[in-house]
Amino acid sequence: MTRQTLIIIFVAILTTFACGTASAQNPGYEKFRAKAMAGNSNFSKQSHLLDSVIAHYVEIDTEEDEDVRDQDVDNPGDDIYNGAWSTDGVNANRVALCDVPDSVTISCSGYVPPVVGITTSHFGPRWRRIHYGIDIALRTGEPIGAAFDGKVRVTKFDRRGYGYYVVLRHDNGLETVYGHLSEIKVFEGQHVVAGQCIGLGGSTGRSTGPHLHFETRFMGNPINPEKIINFATNEPHNKNFFLVKTIAFDYAKSSNYRSSYAADNIIKGSRGNSYAKGGHRYHKVRKGETLSSIAKRHGTTVNKLCKLNRISRNSKLRPGQRLRYT
Ligand SMILES: [Zn+2]
Repeated sequence: MTRQTLIIIFVAILTTFACGTASAQNPGYEKFRAKAMAGNSNFSKQSHLLDSVIAHYVEIDTEEDEDVRDQDVDNPGDDIYNGAWSTDGVNANRVALCDVPDSVTISCSGYVPPVVGITTSHFGPRWRRIHYGIDIALRTGEPIGAAFDGKVRVTKFDRRGYGYYVVLRHDNGLETVYGHLSEIKVFEGQHVVAGQCIGLGGSTGRSTGPHLHFETRFMGNPINPEKIINFATNEPHNKNFFLVKTIAFDYAKSSNYRSSYAADNIIKGSRGNSYAKGGHRYHKVRKGETLSSIAKRHGTTVNKLCKLNRISRNSKLRPGQRLRYT
């Protein structure tokens, strides 16, 4: 038997223990999971989590390999989130849209559908607000799998909203949210592999029937999951998702978009202390800010800021002052 075969067997065994026999009720899901895992190029990463189990059966990789895997798995998306990690809730590490890069490539390799079912509600305006995910019909108790490899950031109960929910931060920089669960099967800080059971489907919180509310987010900002995944074939549209800020977050232009994240309005061209005018972007200086903190915030350098604004590095900034940064 090859190492991969062994891993597949052990993933199957672990999943069965974690989720009970419910998974057997959905052969479609099992098929997708098996297929995705077999074709997953990141298999070495997944195996990291199972090392303790398979150590008795297979030779462990060289030490060098393990170092590389540790770096990959321990702090998923760490550079993207600048080390920010909070278990407080979905929005805890949300970055204002104006500070999200204009474009970024996100790998979709290793995707496993969280559950296979009919999409009953799409992303977008709904009941005068925005539905930040999609709803997938399911039977209560049906196992929900992690969409990609990653780490559990939040497990919580939200009586008026998500019900029992889980937020995962993935190695590819995305975060996914799983709402209305009947039961949570993971703990905060736990590493998970794509397809691993994270909870059971249900109808807890603000829900009218059993379904999974599924969100995909980048730097805390929701993206329509259907832009990334084809939920009819249960595969990503492309190997990589090329995120273009103005397209991925186009809903921010909608009049239904009433986010408490005032800074989100970069697409509208106005925000708390950063705004666009005449094709350039400006930053309104707040108390305590320095040229270097402003440069860092907008991904530029102190030199560039000085040139654009015809000031010297030693200029004293005053609150309310406007600085051009693009
Ligand atoms: Zn929903």
